[in-house]
Amino acid sequence: MQRFGHVIGGRATEPASGRWLPSEDPAHGTPWAEVAQGCAADAAAAVADAARAFPGWAADGPARMRALHALADLLDAEWPTLVEAEVRDNGKRIAEVRGQFAGLGAWYRHFADAAASLGQTRLSPVMAGVEVEADWLPFGVIAAITPWNSPLMILAWKLAPALAAGNTVVVKPSELASASTVLFALLAARVLPAGVINVLCGLGAEAGAALVDDPRVRKVTFTGSDTGGRMVAAAAGRTLAPVVRELGGKSAQVVCAECDRKAALNGIAAGIFASNGQSCVAGSRLIVEESIAEDIIGALVALAHRLRPGDPMDPATQVAPLANRPHFDKVVAMIETARREGAHLIAGGRRLDVPGMPAGLFVAPTIFTNVTPAMEIWREEVFGPVLAVTTFRDEEDAVALANDTTYGLASAVWTGDSDRASRVAPRIMAGTVYVNHYRSVDPGVPLGGIGRSGFGRELGPEALHDFLQQRVIWRGTTPFPDPFPD
Ligand code: NAD
Repeated sequence: MQRFGHVIGGRATEPASGRWLPSEDPAHGTPWAEVAQGCAADAAAAVADAARAFPGWAADGPARMRALHALADLLDAEWPTLVEAEVRDNGKRIAEVRGQFAGLGAWYRHFADAAASLGQTRLSPVMAGVEVEADWLPFGVIAAITPWNSPLMILAWKLAPALAAGNTVVVKPSELASASTVLFALLAARVLPAGVINVLCGLGAEAGAALVDDPRVRKVTFTGSDTGGRMVAAAAGRTLAPVVRELGGKSAQVVCAECDRKAALNGIAAGIFASNGQSCVAGSRLIVEESIAEDIIGALVALAHRLRPGDPMDPATQVAPLANRPHFDKVVAMIETARREGAHLIAGGRRLDVPGMPAGLFVAPTIFTNVTPAMEIWREEVFGPVLAVTTFRDEEDAVALANDTTYGLASAVWTGDSDRASRVAPRIMAGTVYVNHYRSVDPGVPLGGIGRSGFGRELGPEALHDFLQQRVIWRGTTPFPDPFPD
């Protein structure tokens, strides 16, 4: 069985405890690899290494720019070697993983040039007799804590700007899908100085907690559940490290009667079924105008029945297994609760038997109608292929339903009326509101949530500065006055 240890100082490293965690292949329900179970000693070693590498990495912007371009080129050439590990680990469809990995180099390339030009700004103080300049300093060691759903893509959103800004990083991947991150870091070690990227594997409550508790960690960037986000923020409160939190969602898709129905159906399918609902921006609440509800729901049921389950390694597969057993159990339990609470199950709602994979963690694409805002299926993130549908009468109703959530990550409005788009979209309280579009993420566009979906933003024009601290330098241009004049 393959083993994935930590990556410290650019080398694969065994856990100090000698303990390993099994990683299960969710398509077959069997362990396929072991992952290092990191402890406090491993966390300390990873942070020490990142701290050692920091001064050299921070000092030379042009060298960072060249190294990040070299990393982007290496990823463009080598990404196919990383694909299988991620598919085995989290069961994601290979077609989707290939799409994400083919674009990995581009995230690093986007931020690389900025490394050489962090620059200084001349400020305009109100008072006379001084000149003030501002420049930018990296934090030092950053902890990047990632979830299991799209490990390498989400890591790129954190690493590319953090490294370009001159920080060094300790990555704590999910214990449920660490393999691709370990392989990526070993690949990156070919072109980056040792210690710039370290990987600490292990449990959140053990390795992750030890990492966040380390006072040498000067900033934490976390993507995961709101429960994890709360724990990490509480721990970082003790060390006073700032924390960016990219958390869950219960995103609404508002579908208006005059919309392009084919485009809307594509967007709904992309939002809830393409990643098995295991996407932070999953469009899991469908709010459809009454007059077209029957048609839209009918088309979605037909789609749910048509999608082809299969081995995630097969590029033709359309329904892959859920990523891991605890998550599968949670999704099945939430489906049961929705039934009990009176939602109408009109598609799926059951485990799928897929030939050749009797122990695979497959759940059929699932649709509930007659969902009310009191139900758990409306209020809580499932992170599975489960769509909760309700209808609206008018715009007020649509906006109120879309905003009836404690989350606020993403949402969409599907409409053929640009005035309606301009009225409805700005009233939706979410970090991202798409109009006649869904699920895109871009290095030039900020991503993040409001409310229970998190705090802070990734990507976008401010991404680099989010990994920098501003310093100002005052220069007196006239003699400094006597504080105790006669
Ligand atoms: P999780 O919170 O269980 O784990 C995320 C990471 O945090 C893992 O690496 C875990 O080991 C670590 N962790 C957990 N407890 C910790 C602690 N006390 N100290 C330090 N580290 C700790 O989340 P998950 O189940 O892996 O991911 C799914 C969640 O991620 C969903 O809620 C999803 O919506 C969210 N997500 C959000 C985004 C976004 O950009 N907003 C993107 C992808 C996923």
